[in-house]
Amino acid sequence: MSAGPLLLLWDIDGTLLQRASTEHARALREAAMRVHGLDGLDHVAAEYAGRTDAAILRDLLRLAGVTDEAIDAQAAAVRSASAEAFARLCPDDLSGFVAPGVPEVLAALAAHDHRQALLTGNFEPIGRLKIERAGLGAYFEAGQGAFGSDSASRADLPAIARRRAGSWPRERTVVIGDTPRDIACARADEVRVVAVATGPFGIEPLADADAVVDDARAVLPVLEDWATAPA
Ligand SMILES: [Mg+2]
Repeated sequence: MSAGPLLLLWDIDGTLLQRASTEHARALREAAMRVHGLDGLDHVAAEYAGRTDAAILRDLLRLAGVTDEAIDAQAAAVRSASAEAFARLCPDDLSGFVAPGVPEVLAALAAHDHRQALLTGNFEPIGRLKIERAGLGAYFEAGQGAFGSDSASRADLPAIARRRAGSWPRERTVVIGDTPRDIACARADEVRVVAVATGPFGIEPLADADAVVDDARAVLPVLEDWATAPA
């Protein structure tokens, strides 16, 4: 690997922001109920961490007895209803949910000319609104990154983000996220991954990452090392 700028693909929930998903989860449930005419989804439980919005919605709807055919037929309607519901529910100010050290780390990386983008299971309008309201929007250019609206499978997202960055090379791309699914998506595209134990998972279940840290600030020396040293 030659030295040079990295493409840094940041997860949102549990990585850039912490405990900021309540309204997001509510927006998905409201949208699914409205579009499919369901009475309530509060009795069904889906797993959220590291998963795409489309995958979460499919689980919720299957558990409520909706067929895959109906889920597929209404997928676009549920996606736009989710974005509308979240725009209504999202708090005006999410800056209190930014993980400790994140603004300083993003600023330092931008100053070193690294390319930064979002890689999240959130539908794009939801993820972008969260980041705007958290005061981090300036670090993440429109038209870049990859989102749950691009694929229901997180494993597809790193390759999409690299393509949008102008076919950025794998060996200079790094995923930064908080769950084993973030690690798996990096492996699927053969890019490196830093796991941050700032979400629901501790250091141990993230041990398969190329580096594991317990604080966003500790990402910086790892990336500086990778930016200058051979892979
Ligand atoms: Mg996450």
